[in-house]
Amino acid sequence: MGDKSQVTVGDLLTDLYIAGQAVPAGDGGRFDVLDPATGRVITTVADGTVEDAITAVDAAHAAAGPWAATAPRQRAEILRKAFELMTERAEDVALLISLENGKALPDARGEVAYAAEFFRWYAEEAVRGNGSVVTAPSGANRIVVVHQPVGICVLVTPWNFPAAMATRKIGPALAAGCTVILKPASDTPLTALAMATILADAGVPPGVVNVLPARRSGAVVSAMLHDPRVRKLSFTGSTEVGRVLLGEAADQVLNTSMELGGNAPFVVFADADLDQAVDGAMIAKMRNAGEACTAANRFYVESPVAEEFGRRLAAKMAALTVGPGTEEGTEVGPLVNQEAVDKVDGLVRAAVGEGAKAVIGGVRPDRPGFYYDPTVLVNVRPDSPILREEIFGPVAPIVTFEEEDEAVRLANDTEFGLVAYVYTGDLARGLRVSERLESGMVGLNRGLVSDPAAPFGGVKQSGVGREGGHEGMLDYTEAKYIAVNW
Ligand code: NAD
Repeated sequence: MGDKSQVTVGDLLTDLYIAGQAVPAGDGGRFDVLDPATGRVITTVADGTVEDAITAVDAAHAAAGPWAATAPRQRAEILRKAFELMTERAEDVALLISLENGKALPDARGEVAYAAEFFRWYAEEAVRGNGSVVTAPSGANRIVVVHQPVGICVLVTPWNFPAAMATRKIGPALAAGCTVILKPASDTPLTALAMATILADAGVPPGVVNVLPARRSGAVVSAMLHDPRVRKLSFTGSTEVGRVLLGEAADQVLNTSMELGGNAPFVVFADADLDQAVDGAMIAKMRNAGEACTAANRFYVESPVAEEFGRRLAAKMAALTVGPGTEEGTEVGPLVNQEAVDKVDGLVRAAVGEGAKAVIGGVRPDRPGFYYDPTVLVNVRPDSPILREEIFGPVAPIVTFEEEDEAVRLANDTEFGLVAYVYTGDLARGLRVSERLESGMVGLNRGLVSDPAAPFGGVKQSGVGREGGHEGMLDYTEAKYIAVNW
């Protein structure tokens, strides 16, 4: 990949990847990929068209039968090889992620390890199809259940975890015997194309994985969702776009998995170990500079410890080194683009205008690139937009509460329900509150929930379906029931 001071993309794919070949866009179009640390162009990437999308479906269709018929052990070994290759190339992939997404290298390295693990986990799952045979209650027959691949899948991924969001879908899809077309986010297509190279080198046959960068994402994805050969949409991104795509998927009644936006509450009770809570808050808030669907978006702290928690969190956040993600020593990289900075700044300004106080930060630094300083806000009004919208940046708004019921009510007062964090020294309270929180996941005295072995996903408007764990593979299968006269 070359040294970090200069932007080189070496032998990376920058074309579409269809049927095992790197191909230009049908109309020759290309679009720029920017370095968020400078705003400069890294390279250009082929801009897929609607016709290219149909060609990709042709490829996935041609490969579907043979891939579904490939022995599970063979599929497992290919995925295992992909894990090994990704681990061998971890530094290059991390640098690439950092270059196009902006995240600091330690975050990028963490993402590569997390992303590779989906290949290993699903290599292990591929050989455990787990059907069942039971006697019908009447005793008249047997009920045989087999899990079959759902078919051709359209995968649409966001820019914030460009490797992991791709492998979290490709791993289980391939393990289950499906073929896929991946449409990556236009800010980060290079990492997705690097995944295609790793999978091809691992032995994935042509057509099983196709990658289609496209700036005209609406038209391209829509064309695929209306192609009768496609059977599933797996989308990770904003609730706003997810809603539109659910509507599109309704036309063919597609199987859908939707991993959408979050608005995670981080609840700290007075009996919590405050050091542990602050350490957890740093992970939940600052991983990826706050650009995570799991990012703690709202801190609710019981009043006796609120000031101390805010003081300690502010001290840790202020000590972080902000800079270009690719520079060793950087702990917080730039945000992905100018729009992201404008959004964060707008939410902070509105909150301050309503009376909130920035203990640290609250300003956009005066430097090129898309930076925002780590910020802690106190005296935030409970109805402030910053508590209702995904901030997607390094900003921690703190609100105090007086008792448990109030904390649960505040935490649940959102249309989102992806993850919630709870810190308490009382296990019974922790479990009780965890059960009352309206979210698909809870971090109990833990600021990180993402784990390839666990079912990741949300309730309410945070989504439908689960990725990761055994459940993640079931999402790429259909249960077929055979009534057997036996
Ligand atoms: P986004 O919704 O803008 O884009 C996601 C993907 O959809 C991209 O590939 C984009 O090109 C594509 N897209 C955009 N408009 C489209 C359209 N009309 N038709 C078809 N495709 C379209 O989201 P983003 O800004 O890339 O990512 C940030 C969002 O993703 C946040 O809301 C975050 O919470 C969410 N997210 C959720 C999870 C999760 O697992 N729940 C994980 C990561 C990110």
